[in-house]
Amino acid sequence: MSDALLTLNAGSSSLKFSLFALEGRVPERLYTGAFDRGVAADQVSIKSIDGTVTALLLAEPGKLASAFSAVLAWCEECDDFDHIAAVGHRVVHGGMHHAAPVALDDSIIADLAELSPLAPLHQPHNLDGIAQARTAFPHALQVACFDTAFHRTHPFVNDTFALPHRFYEEGVRRYGFHGLSYDYVSGTLDPALKAGRVVIAHLGNGASMCALKEGRSVGSTMGFSALDGLPMGTRCGQIDPGVLIYLMQEHGMDADALTSLLYKESGLKGMSGLTNDMRHLLASEDERARQAIDYFVFRIRRELGGMTAVLGGLDALVFTGGIGENAAAIRSMVCEGFEWLGLSIAEPANADNARDIEMDSSAVRVLVVPTDEEGMIARYTAELLAA
Ligand code: ADP
Repeated sequence: MSDALLTLNAGSSSLKFSLFALEGRVPERLYTGAFDRGVAADQVSIKSIDGTVTALLLAEPGKLASAFSAVLAWCEECDDFDHIAAVGHRVVHGGMHHAAPVALDDSIIADLAELSPLAPLHQPHNLDGIAQARTAFPHALQVACFDTAFHRTHPFVNDTFALPHRFYEEGVRRYGFHGLSYDYVSGTLDPALKAGRVVIAHLGNGASMCALKEGRSVGSTMGFSALDGLPMGTRCGQIDPGVLIYLMQEHGMDADALTSLLYKESGLKGMSGLTNDMRHLLASEDERARQAIDYFVFRIRRELGGMTAVLGGLDALVFTGGIGENAAAIRSMVCEGFEWLGLSIAEPANADNARDIEMDSSAVRVLVVPTDEEGMIARYTAELLAA
């Protein structure tokens, strides 16, 4: 009987999934699919590995829960395997104690639900996906793979805020996110490079950077929430907390209004007043679009400098995520003027989105590595299934 493994990767308004055959030791991808409310709210598109595209129409357009049920129902009917043996879920928050993927049971799910206030736009969707997948496939192993787990190796100074210690004990810490992406990307580096000092810039709609020493995360630009650090598609990134106090006092904003402002109306979209789509911003001649790009690049460069200092030097800078993998102009702006660090990129290779884009004379390697969060989830889930 042939088994398959499903991975579910739900964001605040999008769902990515992959279906893998489990015949060999390594899961083999059969299908990938995506639902994105901002792109086509009424359907999930599915692509088979041979390129055939299918669309599943949603019973309730725009609803993530409806996208989950469409995908799960489609899996039940798919003829390419006999049954789903395991479902791997991307779960944004694993809290203080989860430093590795875990097989889910009622008690762990209840613990994860308690973390929802720490990631209000993501964790409830992740839990909804888990609930629906358990109902659809009650005999399948359900595994949670956490975005925070990779960063549990942070030293105390990068895990804490300068608040009274009781808040640290309560869990008000710098967790860091995008861990599955960093885990995957660092795993593709050759061992000598992985053993060194590396900064990975995951630049997508969500964006963060991670400093790695000997393959372990020692710092991340994201902190307690997925808001901190770099400006993102619609999120503000680092902000002076005094601004929040001002907005509360002078604009009467409450927690809901601030959540909406900081998560959904800020970042590239808020600054430009146009869009969060980097392709459009790069093509625009609008002054605000240019300012938004300039600020995005400035923050990346600033973080790169800080991380290099903390690492005591830099052996490699790696770009990943939709912008990092595809936007040569952004990579070029980020790297400009870093010759003092021994970092310079070769423009033709950069323009081609080649894997190695540094100049021969560059002491620092500069790489472009497509991320594969679902592949990472599949690998961990298959390992737990085999255990
Ligand atoms: P998410 O965080 O939602 O997974 P992605 O990693 O898919 O996001 O990245 C989405 C971002 O990548 C968008 O800003 C999009 O404009 C940008 N992007 C994708 N392709 C290109 C490209 N060819 N040039 C510039 N930006 C691109």
